[in-house]
Amino acid sequence: MAKTIPAPKTDGASHVAANPLREGIESNRVADPCTIVFFGASGDLFKRMLMPAVYSLRAKDILPSNFGLIGFARTPYTDDQFRDYCKRAVQQDQDPDAPLKDALWNDLAKRIGYLTGDFDDTKHFQALKARLDDYEKQFGAGHNRLFYLATPPSVFPKIIEQLQKAGLDPVSNPNGWSRIIVEKPFGTDLASARALQTEVEKVFTENQVYRIDHYLGKETVQDIMALRFANTIFEPIWSRNYVQSVHITAAETLGVEARGAYYDNAGALRDMIQNHVLNLLALVAMEPPASSDADAIRNEKYKVFSAIEPPAPEHVFQMSVRGQYGPGTIGGQHVAGYRSEPDVSPTSNAETYAALKLYINSWRWAGVPFFLRSGKRLARKASEIAITFNPIPHRLFGEKSDTIEQNVLVIKIQPDEGVSIRFNAKVPGQKNHIRGVTMDFNYGTGFGVQSAPAYERLLADAMRGDATLFTRWDAVQRAWEIVMPILDVWQSIKDRSFPNYAAGSEGPDAAKTLNPGWRIL
Ligand code: NDP
Repeated sequence: MAKTIPAPKTDGASHVAANPLREGIESNRVADPCTIVFFGASGDLFKRMLMPAVYSLRAKDILPSNFGLIGFARTPYTDDQFRDYCKRAVQQDQDPDAPLKDALWNDLAKRIGYLTGDFDDTKHFQALKARLDDYEKQFGAGHNRLFYLATPPSVFPKIIEQLQKAGLDPVSNPNGWSRIIVEKPFGTDLASARALQTEVEKVFTENQVYRIDHYLGKETVQDIMALRFANTIFEPIWSRNYVQSVHITAAETLGVEARGAYYDNAGALRDMIQNHVLNLLALVAMEPPASSDADAIRNEKYKVFSAIEPPAPEHVFQMSVRGQYGPGTIGGQHVAGYRSEPDVSPTSNAETYAALKLYINSWRWAGVPFFLRSGKRLARKASEIAITFNPIPHRLFGEKSDTIEQNVLVIKIQPDEGVSIRFNAKVPGQKNHIRGVTMDFNYGTGFGVQSAPAYERLLADAMRGDATLFTRWDAVQRAWEIVMPILDVWQSIKDRSFPNYAAGSEGPDAAKTLNPGWRIL
């Protein structure tokens, strides 16, 4: 069980005492004793996100003292070489003003080990079992085991099968808990997601499976619930009676970087909309859950998805827009078009931009369009949810009412983190001029801290057994059901206008036809 400890000598605690803005910030909850096995420990995700997250959890005293970490991949490392690799990963991530602390690192490093192995080889999993037994004795982690699949999705089923063959499945571990974290994507379409789930279910029960959608670990995403359910002023207007439309944007300025091979088979709909963006929609649209219990929340999210009708194939082009970037300019630099990116086919039909218009068939939301858009190489990096309220019902100020804007509530997720409200105010002076103004709340300045990286929160939650921020199978399946008709139609009918937007622009023109009210990027 997770327990609360008095905050001792941690950096976090001393800042709370010194800075009144940080009042109310939770003291650290220690995670359960456990050993984490990172499959894919020589890969990019482990190096850039996971290892820095482990160190940061240690620095915040969230990592229990009874803890071990075993990396597993093909690249040959000795334990010491792997520890050096981990140390470099942490150093690269550190703020230059807060360098790695030797005492903390040394304590963590002695709990880190590595196994060179191939997922196809059962012997390597037997060796893993022996190593786990040894670590559990050495570090007193009980028999609590967290398996993290930070590998290409194609090998997820193999790893799960090998865990069972080697006796590393939950049933063979009655004296501790066994959990598995599955990286995204969970399937590449509905059929493959179902096939993967079939393999997962052979070994793990649903409450042992933690499907990562790292967007859900972001502080501002969690704040959607706080905004809605820790305030009374928003909920009464949170419905079709006051809301005209909801616009969810996940825009990037980056291109596909080194991920061309993956992205060319995925595209924006699979990569962003099916998971991150639909999850944001669920948090905005769900009914108030009866409690903050993981399943109470996940039940409500699932209900939102089940109230969205997957489009009929003949309606796909009316409710969706796709795009692909051509060459253009970003930050004053010329950048190549998508088809010239490394590992991308020069005739690729993959969409680097997707926009959808969805309706939720519920009492609360009937008739309110939810516009979703995500794209690469756009004018600005911005993830946000903008809720546009109805226009004023009566023009009290005559023709001056022309300048009155509709109220918009914007929940900013990244890179800015905060909430803003757009409303109208009288311009100072004798005349009755009215103009839109913005009231802004920013997390960094409001609380005097930067949000913890998503992976940090998610890792700690999985160690504590809190699945609230992980996606349940029913929701994953339903999200695939919603996007499948669009994927199928897009796949079967190539877009001959590609590339149809310039890098650094707002995206394809057709998106403005779908929703003329998008906020400018
Ligand atoms: P990489 O390709 O960088 O790493 C893959 C890892 O898996 C390597 O450690 C590799 O080992 C190991 N591996 C692959 N096949 C085998 C095998 N047969 N036996 C043993 N080890 C194997 O992938 P990423 O780290 O980028 O991604 C990992 C997962 O995280 C993917 O599911 C991805 O979708 C997801 N993800 C990644 C993000 C990122 O920013 N990188 C962001 C969000 C999700 P070796 O190289 O030593 O052979």
